[in-house]
Amino acid sequence: MSPPPDLRIAVDSAGLQRRIDELALISEAPAPVVTRVLYSEADMRGRDYVRRAAREAELSVREDAVGNLFARWEGSEPALAAVGSGSHTDAIPNAGRYDGVVGVLGAFEALAALRRAGFKPRRSLEVVMFTAEEPTRFGLGCLGSRLMAGSIPVERAMALRDREGRSLDELRAAAGYSGSLESVRLPKGYYHAFVELHIEQGPILEAGDIPIGIVEHIAGPSSYRVTLHGEGGHAGAVLMPSRHDAMLAGAEIALAVERAAKGSGSPHTVGTVGVFRIEPGAVNSVPYRAYLEIDLRDARLDTRSKALAEIRSAADQSCARRAVRMEFEEINADPPAAGDPDTVAIAEAVCAELGLRSLRMVSRAYHDSLFMARVSPTTMIFIPCRNGWSHRPEEYATPEHIASGAEVLAHAMARLAV
Ligand SMILES: [Zn+2]
Repeated sequence: MSPPPDLRIAVDSAGLQRRIDELALISEAPAPVVTRVLYSEADMRGRDYVRRAAREAELSVREDAVGNLFARWEGSEPALAAVGSGSHTDAIPNAGRYDGVVGVLGAFEALAALRRAGFKPRRSLEVVMFTAEEPTRFGLGCLGSRLMAGSIPVERAMALRDREGRSLDELRAAAGYSGSLESVRLPKGYYHAFVELHIEQGPILEAGDIPIGIVEHIAGPSSYRVTLHGEGGHAGAVLMPSRHDAMLAGAEIALAVERAAKGSGSPHTVGTVGVFRIEPGAVNSVPYRAYLEIDLRDARLDTRSKALAEIRSAADQSCARRAVRMEFEEINADPPAAGDPDTVAIAEAVCAELGLRSLRMVSRAYHDSLFMARVSPTTMIFIPCRNGWSHRPEEYATPEHIASGAEVLAHAMARLAV
């Protein structure tokens, strides 16, 4: 694929920054905090903003039955599969202004810059704002892209309820979205390629002073819920040989998670016990119940599965030894995704030609691209963020890095669209 000749792209960094700052003010919490939970009033106003920004970039907008928004620049051969980009604008409580937003507004700016440069795409270029990348409302991330990729059975999506017991159908109807959830699924071959621009949300690029990361693998997240039923009793009266302490079984499981992740054979395996509750939670009472949630991720499925098997076996042994009963349930498990080698190579070549250092990376956080990669050749372009901070108000990326990301995205999309 040869690059379009003499494509001189000038990203309007100030304009892009202004839009990022304006969208950040649409929030359920006062600045600098950004909170935009799916279908909340702030999310709806955020969607209005994105629609306006799409129209300013002269893109035509359509929205599907769950609120995924598609902003399209029609190519000269509109029947060809489009080149896609995009990300999300929903934000977890107490978040910052860059996560997701850079990939939506940055893609609008990339297309606007291509237009200013006189580029004429053969394939259509399309920016997606995915619905509900964050799991805040339904406890399940990437709802929009999952449905687009057909990676969640529609019945499972229909069964989703938020904390107040409201269903997805009820909430999307209230937000003005109708039509069957089946219709959200993309037709086969809809995208020729998909490139998501995103802040790294980790420290690697900043530490190496590297402006661009190119994602080769996206780690697959999985999570599990463990409930342990032991036997309570008076901390003074129940002697050690007759104890069935649920907390101690839980502690052994937590250590097994660490051991399995460290010993998986893959440097990308990470295991975390982020929730650990015990009952009754009194200093003079033997814990009769423990509740843990385990997060286990990896760029490879085989090493993740091996780590999980080790955790399960250690948990079984510990519970048998202590005569503690265990329930071990999967909350969610998504396989990892690989970036498309050709698309990765194009992004890398663009960086080299622009004189920008780049680094091939694994995305340890999941993104909508985890699901887009199931239906399209996909990669992601990462830019550094300060201290690797994300999902907090101090999240920050420099205007220069954001502009570089948008510039790389514009060139990559142009190459993919010819
Ligand atoms: Zn994100």
